[in-house]
Amino acid sequence: MTEEDAAGEAGTRFKVYCSQCREKVELPVGAFRLALGATKERTFYGFTCPECGAAVRKPAGEKIVEALTRAGVSTMRLVPIER
Ligand SMILES: [Zn+2]
Repeated sequence: MTEEDAAGEAGTRFKVYCSQCREKVELPVGAFRLALGATKERTFYGFTCPECGAAVRKPAGEKIVEALTRAGVSTMRLVPIER
């Protein structure tokens, strides 16, 4: 049980489908990670499925990015690696 996830301050929850076990799960904001890439193809969100434990990663469209960002999901900006 992860009901008391400290990261989820607003108490917003999102329903998502796990691409591994196909379960529909409801997760608090703190369970999501959002990775903003330079292009849409590289922008995705991720979560760990509470049913099967899989690390799920899905492409995030503009609406999803907006919703997750507004809810306070921790965002990671992907930038090209400098060398
Ligand atoms: Zn699953």
